Amino acid sequence: MKEENNSLNFIEQIVEEDLSNGMDNSKLRFRFPPEPNGYLHIGHAASICLNFGLGLTYKSPVNLRFDDTNPAKEEQEYVDAIKTDIKWLGFQWDKELYSSDYFQQLYDWALLLIKNGKAYVDDQNSEQIAQQKGTPTQNGENSPFRNRTVAENLDLFEKMKNGDFEEGSHVLRAKIDMSSANMLMRDPIIYRVLKKTHHRTGNDWNIYPMYDWTHGESDYIEQISHSICTLEFKNHRELYDWFLDQVYNMKNLRPKQREFARRNLSYTIMSKRKLRELVEEGYVNGWDDPRMPTISGLRRRGYTPSSIRDFSATAGISKRDNVVDIALLEFHIKNELNKIAPRVMAVLDPVKLIITNYPENKEEILNAENNPEDETAGFREVPFSREIYIEREDFREQANKKFFRLKLDKEVRLKNAYIIKANSVVKDETGNITEIHCTYDEDSKSGSGSEASKRKVKGTIHWVSIKHALQAEVRLYDRLFTDEAPDSYKDKNFKEFINPNSLKIISDAFVEPSIKNAKNEDSFQFQRMGYFSVDKDSTTDKLVFNRTVPLRDSWAKMEKKI
Ligand code: ATP
Ligand code: MG
Repeated sequence: MKEENNSLNFIEQIVEEDLSNGMDNSKLRFRFPPEPNGYLHIGHAASICLNFGLGLTYKSPVNLRFDDTNPAKEEQEYVDAIKTDIKWLGFQWDKELYSSDYFQQLYDWALLLIKNGKAYVDDQNSEQIAQQKGTPTQNGENSPFRNRTVAENLDLFEKMKNGDFEEGSHVLRAKIDMSSANMLMRDPIIYRVLKKTHHRTGNDWNIYPMYDWTHGESDYIEQISHSICTLEFKNHRELYDWFLDQVYNMKNLRPKQREFARRNLSYTIMSKRKLRELVEEGYVNGWDDPRMPTISGLRRRGYTPSSIRDFSATAGISKRDNVVDIALLEFHIKNELNKIAPRVMAVLDPVKLIITNYPENKEEILNAENNPEDETAGFREVPFSREIYIEREDFREQANKKFFRLKLDKEVRLKNAYIIKANSVVKDETGNITEIHCTYDEDSKSGSGSEASKRKVKGTIHWVSIKHALQAEVRLYDRLFTDEAPDSYKDKNFKEFINPNSLKIISDAFVEPSIKNAKNEDSFQFQRMGYFSVDKDSTTDKLVFNRTVPLRDSWAKMEKKI
């Protein structure tokens, strides 16, 4: 049993109840069952954290089961990506299994259904079948093929299997009840003809089992104790149980399906099919585009596995549908990076600043703290010289009192360095500032202990030494959608809400040289700018950074008042 009972989620409560009713802990077994038709997204992370979390809590095995019953949509690439993502999130499955491993068993059980008068081959097409389905308030009609003999059904089903029939011409249906209040119980289809090559079974099969038939029986084969799925399957539970009844043997454990609410996140979508549209139609640059809500996109963006797990834990497991604010996800990564990301200086929109009283050929190496939040993080060396870049928006010729950055005739501290005062500017013919001329106070060096170093000035700005700086590309991301719930409109396609300005590329940013050897996925705080992570597109000549998340930007708010 779980130790701290006060923090149980409702699924854990169900497990606890089963244990207290005599179920043996050793019988607990869970699974995560993705369909390999796309990459995993942050919604799947909820299910992964829940199922693998149960495994850790109860020291029980968790299977990774690929639900691969639709060869038209499934590919090996997705299988590989799903495995990579789960491992990266920090979880380890017990067995790697495939629904397609059970095709023979499922077929044999379908024969059993036919023999027991519980299934029949229907020669009608899908429209005819749909027409007979009825409505929630009106009973359905029996198919004219419902009362075929067992022998006839066996013969036709074998022909379906052998490929004697075309796609769409015949299906195998469970014989349940065309007047059931639950529409899913009205003789659901369990097999259809599909003449497609399957990523694992090749051309062995011309028929493929439907989700409902496959899922519960796979749980039974694997002896999954708790089969946890999302709320839209609540209505399917009756069918899940009916299918189990047909094959259940008292000696075995009987799986139970339980449902929790899907994880929805504001300003994004959570559907592999729709995410795939974004990839295939070129709205984003692949499944791992840092704007995507995929696990691989978040990873490339600079999210850590623990930030995603912590987010999942805080967002919790719910019985009712709800939308989680994307700011909660951002909070978690910011919180973590604040503790672990080394601080460096980078200038994204450079303007040249010359310290006119600093000797021309002088260079100094200054010491800078790697992370004020972490005493053990130590110091790094930052070169300083006469010509530096500062952020263009950190200078104004004139500004009111609330502008705490550099302005003419006023002082500001260069982070880790000296206090400077702006004296004049040089402009090009369009009036654009090309140089800012300053003087520095030689005695004001940070950390030198002098009186002048302790002098308080209102603002501190970051900078890089031009001679030493590395040119870098920086990719700034905004939300991929302009609407909080792009997927929620009946009359509008989610793609209408794509934010045309979700990516801004800066190809001539400058970073301090201490991070020359930064590796893919290393994260940094660019001081005053945000958290940035090294992109896989980086080369030895040029680093490329993704902005993971901005710092909470108090400047932006104040700017409006200036
Ligand atoms: P999609 O529409 O994105 O393909 P799906 O539910 O069809 O979603 P599956 O690959 O079948 O995707 O899902 C694997 C598991 O992850 C299932 O148990 C499913 O219920 C769960 N899951 C999928 N999306 C979410 C979500 N948004 N929140 C919580 N669990 C989810
Ligand atoms: Mg699906």
